[in-house]
Amino acid sequence: MRLVFLGPPGIGKGTQAKILCQRITIPHLSTGDMLRDVISTKSDLGKEARTYMDRGRLVPDDVILGMVEERLQQPDTHGGYLFDGFPRTLPQADGLNELLSQINQNLDTVVALEGEDEILSERLSNRRTCGSCGAITNLLNSPSREEGKCDQCSGELIQRDDDQPNVIRERLKVYKRQTEPLIAYYAERDQLIRINGVGTIEEVTARILENLPKEE
Ligand code: AMP
Repeated sequence: MRLVFLGPPGIGKGTQAKILCQRITIPHLSTGDMLRDVISTKSDLGKEARTYMDRGRLVPDDVILGMVEERLQQPDTHGGYLFDGFPRTLPQADGLNELLSQINQNLDTVVALEGEDEILSERLSNRRTCGSCGAITNLLNSPSREEGKCDQCSGELIQRDDDQPNVIRERLKVYKRQTEPLIAYYAERDQLIRINGVGTIEEVTARILENLPKEE
């Protein structure tokens, strides 16, 4: 299955993407995670990407499309994958179509997770991410057993730099301006399913699973 997860920051894309990828055994391709990996290498590309991410802006399309093209050459993607946080602009969506047609692939479904702005800011400001394994927790609805420590690997839970209030506001604005138009783009192509992203983690997972096309 080849999937895209679309939705505003804070809707739970990453959390749901990780669960679904485990359930249906496909790789989780998060461009945000790929960028954070590049940043950790302290390369010039990483330094450049960081200047955009720290301000809540989008990293340029050519950088993202180059990273995705390289990732799609890895053999683990041949049986399917889930893109989380990509595409985020119309040129990225067109670029993805082109990349896929070059390798004779199609997307099966684009899942749009939806929710109100107030919920998103609240979730983002309470989000903590494990610095070691990347697990995501939320101080309000899924706090870790021991404060500040990841339940899965005991790594330190940190607040992402771009989860600070002023950056959150910018990320929501950027989503509306640059990414939301993709909902109409994929609806026109009959590739979209819309899912209410508000509820417990289990409720939202169940909604997604119910609505995914059944594999033949
Ligand atoms: P995420 O982890 O998906 O919330 O992404 C964190 C940040 O990485 C975003 O706010 C952007 O600055 C950058 N980013 C991630 N994916 C993309 C993308 N597809 N296009 C442009 N920038 C991206």
